[in-house]
Amino acid sequence: MKNIVYCKSCKREIKVRHSCADRFALAEKLGKEFEVTCLYCKQKQTKNINSVYAVANGKFNFMALLITLILSVSLVYFVLSKVESTVYLYYILGASIVIPWMVYFVYKHEDNAKISKFNRNKY
Ligand SMILES: [Zn+2]
Repeated sequence: MKNIVYCKSCKREIKVRHSCADRFALAEKLGKEFEVTCLYCKQKQTKNINSVYAVANGKFNFMALLITLILSVSLVYFVLSKVESTVYLYYILGASIVIPWMVYFVYKHEDNAKISKFNRNKY
């Protein structure tokens, strides 16, 4: 999750320096009104704490997805090369695929819950 505001003139995202769980915690750090400078059009503007939104951190989520993919493929490779063929092989293989993806989806679910909690509660 990251906190953003939208630029008044070019409408692009401006990342807010602090990332907080809710607008109240963010207001303690930045104040009810704060200044931001757009990275694209360099315009300085004053923003209200209620104009801050939480969105998913795309780069971070992509890295988490990549790590999950690499982890599950490596686990399957490891199981196939080390574990002898037994009746449990399919269970172990299944677990090597399911467990990393379960962790990933729990993380995504928690992140989405944090985002909607932030956006729901106005200051
Ligand atoms: Zn701008």
